Amino acid sequence: MGNGVGMKKKKQKLIIPFISLKEGLHQFDFKINETFFQQFDYSIIQHANLNIDIDFEKKQTMLKLDFKLEGSILTDCDRCGDPLNIDVSGDEKLIVKFGKEKYEDTDEIKIISENDYELDLTEIIYEFAHLLLPSKTIHESENQCNQEVIERLKELSIKEQTESIDPRWEKLSKLK
Ligand SMILES: [Zn+2]
Repeated sequence: MGNGVGMKKKKQKLIIPFISLKEGLHQFDFKINETFFQQFDYSIIQHANLNIDIDFEKKQTMLKLDFKLEGSILTDCDRCGDPLNIDVSGDEKLIVKFGKEKYEDTDEIKIISENDYELDLTEIIYEFAHLLLPSKTIHESENQCNQEVIERLKELSIKEQTESIDPRWEKLSKLK
């Protein structure tokens, strides 16, 4: 889980005050947008609208959380660089255990103190949101891309191709 790098000013904290909850299932939902992401200095996501529904189960020795994330994220097209709004959704799980002993936090298990009375999900949800981003984001078809950029890219690739078969370069590479 996050180690707090990049956290500066918390404008929107996502907190579940669980101490007053009865054991059993509870539901929470959060809505986050750019205000949430702008509190992190190095956020890849700048603009987004996400709903986070949480099934929150309070047990005697642990808390079990099931997250459902859904919404849209504004990112850049990898092909033309224009802003691109993509629909995203995903599920995540988290188990929170109470302990005096020092466990390592892992991706699925978070350890908090027995004295804690609330659960701060701000950084976890920030990380979950980034997991929603596909590795490649491009306009569905090239026609939707910025045509000026596409034209320029085509010119560039033609140029590169002709350069790579330039006989002078071929001679040079043979000298090596
Ligand atoms: Zn594009």
